[in-house]
Amino acid sequence: MPTNDLMEKLVSLCKRRGFLFPSSEIYGGLNSFYDYGPLGVELKNNVKRLWWQSMVQRRDDVVGLDAAILMHPKVWEASGHLQNFTDPLVDCKQCKRRFRADHLLEATGSKPDLGTMKTPAGLPKVCPECGGELTEPRRFNLMFKTFMGPLEEASSVVYLRPETAQGIFVNFKNVRDTMRPKLPFGIAQIGKAFRNEITPGNFIFRTREFEQMECEYFCHPREADRWYDYWRQERFNWYVDVLGINKKKLRLRDHKRDELAHYAKACADVEYQFPFSGWSELEGIANRQDFDLKQHATFSGQDLEVTDEAGKKFTPYVIEPSAGADRATLTVLVDAYTEVEGGRTTTTESNKELEVVMRFDKKVAPIKVAVLPLSKKETLARPAREIFDALRSRWTCTYDEVASIGRRYRRQDEIGTPYCVTVDFETLEDKKVTVRARDSMKQERIGIEELEDYFKDNL
Ligand SMILES: [Zn+2]
Repeated sequence: MPTNDLMEKLVSLCKRRGFLFPSSEIYGGLNSFYDYGPLGVELKNNVKRLWWQSMVQRRDDVVGLDAAILMHPKVWEASGHLQNFTDPLVDCKQCKRRFRADHLLEATGSKPDLGTMKTPAGLPKVCPECGGELTEPRRFNLMFKTFMGPLEEASSVVYLRPETAQGIFVNFKNVRDTMRPKLPFGIAQIGKAFRNEITPGNFIFRTREFEQMECEYFCHPREADRWYDYWRQERFNWYVDVLGINKKKLRLRDHKRDELAHYAKACADVEYQFPFSGWSELEGIANRQDFDLKQHATFSGQDLEVTDEAGKKFTPYVIEPSAGADRATLTVLVDAYTEVEGGRTTTTESNKELEVVMRFDKKVAPIKVAVLPLSKKETLARPAREIFDALRSRWTCTYDEVASIGRRYRRQDEIGTPYCVTVDFETLEDKKVTVRARDSMKQERIGIEELEDYFKDNL
């Protein structure tokens, strides 16, 4: 299947079945912003919950945090975001389009070196769209700016955080003072971040508003390399073992020296082979050394050092696994999408259409069980509703009584529901229902009384 085709189909399915909608769509949408629909929010919540379980709930050495999105402006001075978080841009004087200088350069085949921001040799002088004259490159900060309080003046400028990590660093002391963790320990957080990207795109892969899942893991400098190796592997395994992503489409890529941020000693990306862009980053694992804590100690005047067994003071190093909740969700969607030419069901109306099956891992599937009465008649609807009510106190379930049973199975396959429970006229006699599995299409008769245990074992 041509790759763009696949993305087009996936985007269309996401819209049609309530996973993702363009933001403010009735007003024509807002470029590259998306809203998670009823199924999308379940899917993304499952991804975030699984991350939290792995990173916080099941660990002795990591605690959670939920910091505010707006922070003291000094935070962004200390972190370097005010000075360095910029892209070089050129504007077209004629059509007013804005371009990233490095992208224009790359298009000419030159390797961008934009550190100095002198107009690099080879930078095109005319607009690739209209041939108009281009301005000199200028630095453009990627942080969203707003004003706190009623006055729109310089002293009331605040920024929407461009990463959740700084909320963790500025709470390092609070967490130490209250929870008394011993090194090594981590602080984990899930939350929104905002970057005024010039070129967002590829559906929810790069958006200006996004959600991060970050952990800052503090350790003794002499143990940092070991913990870096540990997290690098641990986080790769999470995508395979927990999210159920195809291992063949995942890889760990170590950054080359010239790719590293100035504060990082080492960095590796977990990458997925996306249909639109090839290998692309899902998560970065970085050894940020003591850069952040030292910067905040300097800018705040607070003591952020710890004391080792010998009574010697030092600033801990930090290993940062930083993942994107939206990218992980997109990966789950792309990876689950399966087409079966000619269909795979043999129902009464097997009209050999193309069937789509979302083969989500059961843990991430937005809906776990669909309850389907064979007929809408009260005699079947009543027991079916009772089963539905019993199951949904525990799992996310749906109830569907419209159209033929074959159609309804397909609708559930298309949203990746692992199990369908069909209540038929025999049910009234033998108190059993048909449980149909999404992937094997195997059907089993299970007693109503045993249903809960059955799903406890299988979900
Ligand atoms: Zn132009």
